[in-house]
Amino acid sequence: MRRLPKPKPLPRKLRTKLAAETAFIVASENPKAEADRRYSNARNAGWFKPVVDALKKLSGHGQRCMFCSGSEASDVEHYKPKAVFPELAMTWENYLWSCAPCNRGKSSRFPPCTEPGGQFVNPLREDVWEFFFIDEFGFLTPRYDKAAGALNERAASTRDLLDLNREAVQETRLARLSDLKEQVNELVRGLKQGRIKNTAAQGKIKVWLSQPFQPDVADYFLNGPGKTEQPFKKLLKLV
Ligand SMILES: [Zn+2]
Repeated sequence: MRRLPKPKPLPRKLRTKLAAETAFIVASENPKAEADRRYSNARNAGWFKPVVDALKKLSGHGQRCMFCSGSEASDVEHYKPKAVFPELAMTWENYLWSCAPCNRGKSSRFPPCTEPGGQFVNPLREDVWEFFFIDEFGFLTPRYDKAAGALNERAASTRDLLDLNREAVQETRLARLSDLKEQVNELVRGLKQGRIKNTAAQGKIKVWLSQPFQPDVADYFLNGPGKTEQPFKKLLKLV
């Protein structure tokens, strides 16, 4: 998970087309089958390509999965599954960009509608760092909800059902964190010794924040709540 840019409304022509598709689904005698048919047709049609391109753009450099920040091939994901919410199958606001393992985990589940638990965190519509933090072992961890006296329910469901700490994902997250810490330590030393100029350090931070292989880790520790942790705090105080 990482914070993503705010999505803009689609051009009017596309909005009109999607609304027309939705109207057919809602009016159908079997909305679920109609949603499947219309979505699958759209996915292979030229007119839908700008929708996919807009999602890819929002997912940033490397077009990584919006849930796990992994690099596996990704595709359009329905935040609210179309099997349960066919009326949202052709709705821009219901789309995310996700990898196959996250998509498989999510499937047609949507707590609390389909099973006990909290509603998935929507990385494109919410600030994910209000729900999660990245711990020193590279685990994406739900924040504690004081009022409930438990882990944030929505974050816990999202982590567990999408398996956001599966071994490959957690290991690469930890590797990115160790690498970033090392580079930040080196930068701090260079700044203190006057070997590195302030503007050069600022440039480096910018690069880290835009690199495709660490968008979640860099965002959390250089741009999010992790700013208060060392050695990131030291660096941000110096620049
Ligand atoms: Zn994923």
